[in-house]
Amino acid sequence: MAPEQLHALLRRHQERIDARVSELTAEMDALTRTRRGEFDDDEHDPEGATLSSQWSMLAGLLESAREDARQADAAVRRLDAGEYGICAACHRAIPPAQLEARPVRQRCVACSR
Ligand SMILES: [Zn+2]
Repeated sequence: MAPEQLHALLRRHQERIDARVSELTAEMDALTRTRRGEFDDDEHDPEGATLSSQWSMLAGLLESAREDARQADAAVRRLDAGEYGICAACHRAIPPAQLEARPVRQRCVACSR
C-alpha cells in the first residue's frame, strides 16, 4: 500500500473511532438519564440491576474506545509531524502491511515483541 493510502486509512480509522466514542457517550447519557429517573422513584424497580450491568458494560466499552481514540490522535499527530510509519524503537520504516493491519502502530512488529 502506498504511503498516501496508509495515511487515508489512518484518518478513516480515526473518524470511525471518534464516531464510536460519540455514539457510546450518547448511549451513556441516555442510560444515566433513565437511571436518574428510577432513583426518583421510591418503589423498588427490578430493572435497576439490569441497568447497572448495562451501564458498567457501556462504561468499559467507552473507556476502551477512548483509549483507541487517544492512540489514533497520537498517530495523526505523528502523521502531521511527518513521523508516521517510523518505528519509535528502531527508527526504521514500519512495513506497510503492518500499518495496514494496525494503523495506530508505533513500533514495528519486531520491536513490539
Ligand atoms: Zn522497530
